[in-house]
Amino acid sequence: MISSYKYTLLFTLSLPFLFMTGCAREEIEFSTFEKIDTHVHVRYSGPEFFDQAVKDNFKAVVVILDHRDIGMQHDYVEQQKEMHPQQFIYTTAFPIAGWDDPDWQTRTIDHLREAFDGGATAVKIWKNVGMEFKDQNGNFVTIDDPKFDPIIDFIESQDKTLTAHLGEPRDCWLPLEEMLGESNRQYFAGHPEYHMYLHPEYLSYEEQIAAMERMLEKHPNVRYVGCHLASIEWSVTELAKFLDKYPNVAVDMAERIDDLQLRDSDEVRQFFIDYQDRLLYATDFGIEEGDDAAVTMQRLHDTWMMDWNYFTTDSVMTIPDIAQPVKGLDLPPEVLKKIYRENALKWYPALQ
Ligand SMILES: [Zn+2]
Repeated sequence: MISSYKYTLLFTLSLPFLFMTGCAREEIEFSTFEKIDTHVHVRYSGPEFFDQAVKDNFKAVVVILDHRDIGMQHDYVEQQKEMHPQQFIYTTAFPIAGWDDPDWQTRTIDHLREAFDGGATAVKIWKNVGMEFKDQNGNFVTIDDPKFDPIIDFIESQDKTLTAHLGEPRDCWLPLEEMLGESNRQYFAGHPEYHMYLHPEYLSYEEQIAAMERMLEKHPNVRYVGCHLASIEWSVTELAKFLDKYPNVAVDMAERIDDLQLRDSDEVRQFFIDYQDRLLYATDFGIEEGDDAAVTMQRLHDTWMMDWNYFTTDSVMTIPDIAQPVKGLDLPPEVLKKIYRENALKWYPALQ
């Protein structure tokens, strides 16, 4: 019932969406710089996605999630492995459905064990936990529920990564006129059913973040990736506090680079320098069976290039839905190496 709306947005904000001046410094070349996109969805049987990744010097983390059929997503991964075994690692996911069954926990651990044996190296938890799924008593199930503890302990014991998309951008709970992002405002104006401000019967933004923090307090040693800047995209100060509290946490920036671009570029640049060991480059780009591969690959390349120019140059860019011009961060080479690769190798060590 709650759509992956940011995921949809990516496709609506098609190119051309920016104009740039300036160019990358010579020593940092897009085509020769080794990069990892830590959050993509490949529900597709053809070779084109990873052909493009090879061309653009990217490896990736393919994210399987508890949204639509998990088995089908694994089948696509197996097809991709045949063609590009070195180009990606992948998460598995487990169904929350059946939560109230007495054997849900053992079934879930069995499923994870089988997925790890098959090659999955991380587990993705999706926002249906906290925002959608209710137990048999009609209560929302949140990630700090004790029923998840043995599951998370198992993931940790197997030296796998816990990757989670919990909550939504804070804008989702704000009235339209208070939203920070113009794309969010347009989306929620057209989709009031997903606009949490209009639905106080759902858990609040603060409750989503608090549940995530309570889980992390119980599991301080699990290797954790908070997707979408851990849904703390609205303030780099708050995100910094969160990262200070939980040293085993990294955040991916999938679909939230535009939230950073809304902010003062000097402030964001300083945040990237201060937290250079904790940030993972990611797009949330997806390809589905039936998509026009050529068009989709052009969009993928353009997305990767646009982000590259933002991080590597001090060019001033015009980005739709952002009223003011956006200045590139011009990050030092050692920071670029970390956000584009080295941090991913720490949080997703199977990539090495
Ligand atoms: Zn995603």
